[in-house]
Amino acid sequence: MTDLSEEIDHYLRRLFPLCRSITGHGNRETLRILQEIIPLSILEIPTGEKVYDWEIPREWNVREAWIKNSRGEKIVDFRNNNLHLVSYSQPVHTRLGWNDLKDHLHYREGLPHAIPYKTSYYRETWGFCISWDDCRRLFPGDEEFEVFIDSELTQGNLTLGEMLIPGKSRREYLISTYFCHPSLANDNLSGVVLTAFLARELMKTPRQFSYRVVFAPETIGAIAYCQTHEEAMKKILGGFVVTCVGGPGSVYFKKSFDPGHWINAVVEDVLRETGEEFLVYPFDHGSDERQYSSPAFRINMVTVGKDKYFEYPGYHTSLDNLDLVKAGAIHQSLGIYLKVLDRLDLEIIFENFNPACETMLSRHGLYPRNDEDLVFSKGKGLNEIHIILWLLFYCDGKTGLNEISRKMEVPVEALGRVAEKLEKAKVLGRV
Ligand code: ZN
Repeated sequence: MTDLSEEIDHYLRRLFPLCRSITGHGNRETLRILQEIIPLSILEIPTGEKVYDWEIPREWNVREAWIKNSRGEKIVDFRNNNLHLVSYSQPVHTRLGWNDLKDHLHYREGLPHAIPYKTSYYRETWGFCISWDDCRRLFPGDEEFEVFIDSELTQGNLTLGEMLIPGKSRREYLISTYFCHPSLANDNLSGVVLTAFLARELMKTPRQFSYRVVFAPETIGAIAYCQTHEEAMKKILGGFVVTCVGGPGSVYFKKSFDPGHWINAVVEDVLRETGEEFLVYPFDHGSDERQYSSPAFRINMVTVGKDKYFEYPGYHTSLDNLDLVKAGAIHQSLGIYLKVLDRLDLEIIFENFNPACETMLSRHGLYPRNDEDLVFSKGKGLNEIHIILWLLFYCDGKTGLNEISRKMEVPVEALGRVAEKLEKAKVLGRV
């Protein structure tokens, strides 16, 4: 393992056992640990606050939860796996027979070893999740069972994490991930950890654009973030919902709502250059793009990852664990995100200051002194003077550098270097 993979592995193991939900101490503890990686600001939004058509729910915390059989043996225990308890379960302490208990037990007959993940944020109830194997083994029909859930639902807060990485320009891209799932690794601890390391990498080198990084509980958290940052969110250039980035399967790319948006072209270019096969999914309402791409904001949000939600067998069950998700896979996805962001950072639009006819290059010190520098040989690719001529040809104040790169079949990094030279010579300027 590389040093970075080891670091990713360290945080996966520390964060995996925490009981996260849409609110609660597990969420705060998750963000506190992430603050070791990046300087996140924490926002607390109080219970009862209206956020568009929604309302911040009561804060949920749980101390213990178990079911005992008639011999007093704990047969299901939240301490062994936080997936055993339906998230947002009401407190309860009662004795009941199988007929009354069975409506509160959830399992998947089709995945007999797996504990399913279930939530009930907005319907007041309680419940336990168990594997189908355990259900058959531990619950003979004629017994009486004792159920104890020591949870509380209080006037508290919904917790969000955010940071802004300022670039030369105040125009921003959004990087958002959700951290409301308990012990589930691909969906979405992998996305949480990747986002933290991605932000750390972005902070290392000065950027053209600014990057807004958001850790929000899915749905209600993203809605609350949009409500509390409405003006900024209306100006976002594009973004990423970082989720399911650490599975063993092939890389996938989920497009934004407008397939013609440049962010899709940039992601596709980067993935094609890896030389490996990747799956492409059209836009859907799978995650927080439901909020960010809604009519008021219309942000083009894409997702790149490994093993998309809904698509892998153990999705939303205890099989989505650290046997499935490896630090190396997250590291691989992180590399793709970094390449995409480096490329996006070069999505600069220049305008030619002499749009009428050609610029007199010698007047600006741009004309080559040696004749051989003027010769274009196909085998060697374009030399600098030809790149200068094509850049001045394409830079019409509307066409981005990535688009020009695709048209010229020259890497955007090479174009960026020449464009900067032209900028210094004051023949090109940024729009
Ligand atoms: Zn999920």
